Amino acid sequence: MERRALGIDLGGSAIKVVVAEGGVLGEVVRFPHEARGLESVVRAVAQAFAVACWQVRLSPRDELELPIGLAVAGLVREGVVERSGNLALVEAPLRDAVEKARGRKLTAFLSDARSLGIAASIVMGPDVRVALGLGTGVGGSLVVGGEIVRERGLGHGVLLKDVPLATAPCALGHDACLEAHLGAAGLVASARKVGLGVATPRELDELASSDERARAVLERAGQRLAQGVEKILDESGFLGREAALVLSGGVATSQKLRDAAADRLGGRVRVSLSRFGSDAAVAGAALAALTGS
Ligand SMILES: [Zn+2]
Repeated sequence: MERRALGIDLGGSAIKVVVAEGGVLGEVVRFPHEARGLESVVRAVAQAFAVACWQVRLSPRDELELPIGLAVAGLVREGVVERSGNLALVEAPLRDAVEKARGRKLTAFLSDARSLGIAASIVMGPDVRVALGLGTGVGGSLVVGGEIVRERGLGHGVLLKDVPLATAPCALGHDACLEAHLGAAGLVASARKVGLGVATPRELDELASSDERARAVLERAGQRLAQGVEKILDESGFLGREAALVLSGGVATSQKLRDAAADRLGGRVRVSLSRFGSDAAVAGAALAALTGS
């Protein structure tokens, strides 16, 4: 097995690139982007890759030969992005297009949901793990005994039916899915609805130390998160088992949100941030390239 690999995480608002050595990440280089549609997305990835190689001083040979994993915010089937609301892709042959643009093969091409599961599977903890990224989009994997048993539909397919609809729909137009309730845009919309002039989840979290309304928005989001996790565990027959909820992404950095989720989930589900912090998806992409998974 190669010891080094390059990971790329293509998210809805940023592309991250990292060289990982074993399970240890080097410097993560982050490129904000607004690319939508296949052509524009390929251009953004190719450019980020080229600049990152220069920034982390990758040799021309490594640039061509290091294993590369590309994780994409969306549903992935083999080399095709079936659907990505945040990248405006439908049935897009992204793997091929990126390989052509860069003049080399990718070692692994996967959804960011799967890469979060891979990142969560290499650490110690209970057998049952829900790995969720809460950022521009929401998604992740259910990992059991180190194997990913579910990686589709955790962000958009888990509908909260017994609670009021989200303040704003998700990128795909749902108003009851986890992304509508817990994605960055949904959270900001909920904050604005109660009169808070915040632009990002981070601003909302900072405000929560002095503003009761901000605290309430985050607590409610944490409860929704817990309800979603209960549903995921219940649908797979693991409700009541000891489990871990491993979080990543900008929204998950809010301690208040995590505490509210942990309160509702009780002692059997341990809530924590990924050891890779908000870089779990790019770490998983590199690990996927290392292991060929
Ligand atoms: Zn949705």
